[in-house]
Amino acid sequence: MMIAANYTVHMYCDCDECTGKQWGSPDFGEYVGNSWSQCAKEARANGWRISKDRQHCYAPGHKISRNKP
Ligand SMILES: [Zn+2]
Repeated sequence: MMIAANYTVHMYCDCDECTGKQWGSPDFGEYVGNSWSQCAKEARANGWRISKDRQHCYAPGHKISRNKP
């Protein structure tokens, strides 16, 4: 049996601009790996920022919003 990468992370940008969009969708990224950390590492290598609690992420070059609860 082949062991395949079985962990997928979907990232939607949480910056104010993306979450405030009325039309279209926020910047989106999909990463596949064997674990969360592998996916996160790949995403970070592409410029994504991920919050420590893993609840928010921000697309490359987008402004991190500081006013999230
Ligand atoms: Zn954004």
